[in-house]
Amino acid sequence: MGLLDQKFENGNVLITSMDGLLNWARLSSIWGMQFGLACCAIEMMATGASHYDLDRFGTFFRGTPRQSDVMIVAGTVTLKMASRIKTLYDQMSEPRYVISMGSCSNCGGPYWEHGYHVLKGVDRIIPVDVYVPGCPPRPEALMEGLLKLQEKIRHESLAKKPAA
Ligand code: SF4
Repeated sequence: MGLLDQKFENGNVLITSMDGLLNWARLSSIWGMQFGLACCAIEMMATGASHYDLDRFGTFFRGTPRQSDVMIVAGTVTLKMASRIKTLYDQMSEPRYVISMGSCSNCGGPYWEHGYHVLKGVDRIIPVDVYVPGCPPRPEALMEGLLKLQEKIRHESLAKKPAA
């Protein structure tokens, strides 16, 4: 038995760091921005629907960047859309995260060589935390990406997080 045994009369006491507590709360409620760009977005919608059920990770889609923790860039990032994506990212509050879903968003995908209208990777305009490979990635792959993001958040120090 430790020093604290029998020291508290009512209920259990949990001792943790503030970072640990806040990170646990944040990684358990990663709200995604509700928008999609192309075919990968269909897989993203399937991931959020009842069969795969992102709700069990605490992930819900929100219709505004102000209430979103993560931007899932799902689809082809055309040059026309790139500035809109940057604007949406800028409107998210800190701490904010980005998952790049699929080959198009990661590097231009099938448009890598001849797609004059396609950005060759969304990380050219916004910082990306997790890359999910595939064309398109299956829902399981996106869920794996979310778990990776949860792991990243778990080990963050809020005091030391640099402003993006
Ligand atoms: S990576 Fe493939 S599935 Fe996804 S948006 Fe591009 S072409 Fe469509």
